[in-house]
Amino acid sequence: MLELEKAQETILASIPAPKNETVPLAEAYRRIVTEKISASTDLPPFDNSAVDGYAVRSREITSATTQNPVLLQLAGKIAAGENFRGELSPGQCIRIFTGSTLPPGADAVVMQEDTQVDTNKPREVLFLDSAKPWENIRFRGEDIKRGATISTAGAKLGATQIALLAASGVAQVSSGRRPSVALLATGSELRESANASELAPGQIYESNRAALAPLIVAAGGIPSIFPIVPDDAEVTRMALSRAFAECDIVVTCGGVSVGEMDFVKSGFEELGGHLQFWKVAIKPGRPFVFGRHRDKLLFGLPGNPVSAFVTFLLLVRPALLRWQGATAVGLPASAGVLTEPFSNPDSRRHFIRVLQDTKGKVRSAGTQASHMLSSLALADGLVDMPPKTNFETGKTVQVLRWE
Ligand code: AMP
Ligand code: MG
Repeated sequence: MLELEKAQETILASIPAPKNETVPLAEAYRRIVTEKISASTDLPPFDNSAVDGYAVRSREITSATTQNPVLLQLAGKIAAGENFRGELSPGQCIRIFTGSTLPPGADAVVMQEDTQVDTNKPREVLFLDSAKPWENIRFRGEDIKRGATISTAGAKLGATQIALLAASGVAQVSSGRRPSVALLATGSELRESANASELAPGQIYESNRAALAPLIVAAGGIPSIFPIVPDDAEVTRMALSRAFAECDIVVTCGGVSVGEMDFVKSGFEELGGHLQFWKVAIKPGRPFVFGRHRDKLLFGLPGNPVSAFVTFLLLVRPALLRWQGATAVGLPASAGVLTEPFSNPDSRRHFIRVLQDTKGKVRSAGTQASHMLSSLALADGLVDMPPKTNFETGKTVQVLRWE
């Protein structure tokens, strides 16, 4: 049996370099940036006011208090977005707003709340408080300096990174193309769940494609749902052939163990694919096929719903992300504390379905058999337990998450 990390390494080592395309920033959410991006301007681009108030020379109001206000002449107004051409002369102040350019000569902004204007003397502003030099001023380049790195190659763009790029004037990014992913379910017992008809004896509704399609989307892939493939050598080969013709990556589930009815491996080899078949040392999981067909990839997952789900997260998700050029391909994790003991008597590593509350407390999500969807549906994440170990109540664990 193969260790999980070895399987992951082998898969990542055979992922081709990303195919770059230019993506408008508005469409770049969750995309992978494939070139370092440097800021072409300072952020903020100019010194500006952090508040609504008056730009002053701070040394002219050092003595200002509510009892002894200092009076300055109002010399003008600078609205946000305005290109102010004047200058602040001694004895003057200028009305200014949040984000307005700081006028030359000014070295502080006094909040409106610390001033007073008599409506009969609109050009006379009373300052009720002093200001320290550079108070309420946001400096050019204090957020980002021109030339600074605002995105590294291999980074995934979330809303926050997109905000920084937009503020820096980036309109488009170079990104790894999203792979098209064919999703095939094999098994003569499977029925379309969308098809409302009753199940005949021995049949079950197919659920793996439904589970994996959203995971593919979350990993940046574009899923293409193929019809159910019955356990038949010829039909399986034809379906694989079509899938490889149409998509970059093919994900199948079921039909990869050693049963007589398992046609994925033989069909793939007949098409000229190079196959690696592993019993990966994890639970749920175990039989797993990885293959290369020219520059295309096959992932043959086990059929049991939880096994398909977990092996996708651990072995396929990293591959989809790396295909697009991502550097970080591991599952996000959060620390939690066990509120009950866990035990793994098995000789395989066990990925246990768990619930984690808002305080971080972690407990089992229920029965852990690999066909049990009820505990998977409840689970917030997975806890990775080494073979033949016991975890005590109170132990800090990492909860691996998919959402
Ligand atoms: P297999 O890997 O084909 O031997 O399937 C293992 C178990 O998973 C069997 O009980 C199958 O009926 C079930 N199974 C296989 N594929 C699916 C699927 N796409 N949806 C739901 N259950 C499945
Ligand atoms: Mg089957």
